[in-house]
Amino acid sequence: MRQKIELAAAILVLAALVFVSRTISKYVDSNQVKNEKVTIVLDPGHGGSDPGKIGVNDVEEKTVNLEIAKRVQKLLKKEKIDVVMTREKDTMLTGRDGQATKVGDMKARVAMINETKPALAVSIHQNSYHQEGVKGAQVFYYSHSEDGKKAAEVMQKALLSLNTDNNRKAKANDTYYLLKRTEPPTIIVECGFLSNWEEAELLKDKEYQESIAEAIVEGIKAYIEK
Ligand SMILES: [Zn+2]
Repeated sequence: MRQKIELAAAILVLAALVFVSRTISKYVDSNQVKNEKVTIVLDPGHGGSDPGKIGVNDVEEKTVNLEIAKRVQKLLKKEKIDVVMTREKDTMLTGRDGQATKVGDMKARVAMINETKPALAVSIHQNSYHQEGVKGAQVFYYSHSEDGKKAAEVMQKALLSLNTDNNRKAKANDTYYLLKRTEPPTIIVECGFLSNWEEAELLKDKEYQESIAEAIVEGIKAYIEK
């Protein structure tokens, strides 16, 4: 008799455990569904009368930035991630004052990021240096942003897959206007150096642009999954 009671009690406890674990997993699932809609802002740097850096091979930074950003946009859409682009054409953004100046352009980008409130804003740029030999992708984040730092570190890791010689690390910065003035986590991805012949040639190559875009998407996914 006593054994039977113990057995019945054990079955009851087991049933209760199954019920609780199912309820928890349902709750977790519904939370994941709720969190599924993620928005990313992509910010191709420069545009219009502001070409950005000019490559040793004459390629203009604004063009490379936009090409890569468009590829990232396409790939993110496939992943069902919402994308807002600060620009989709070769233009400067117009400030609130109605003037397409460099200051107005920067302010408009910042306002767009702050109004969109994305999970992450990724500003795409190309680097340049007075020593030709310097190359490799590098990611910048705002010194006072913990999330920015996390995003920059996972993005840097994703970009290292493009070039095994690259040992750059994500770098903190507290002077870039875009990093200082944006509220959502924002990173600047400098995909490579237009002052380096080899990299400048790669950066205008469609296949290489696609590989960079894929690495950036990996970085974004790694950040939002965390
Ligand atoms: Zn730039």
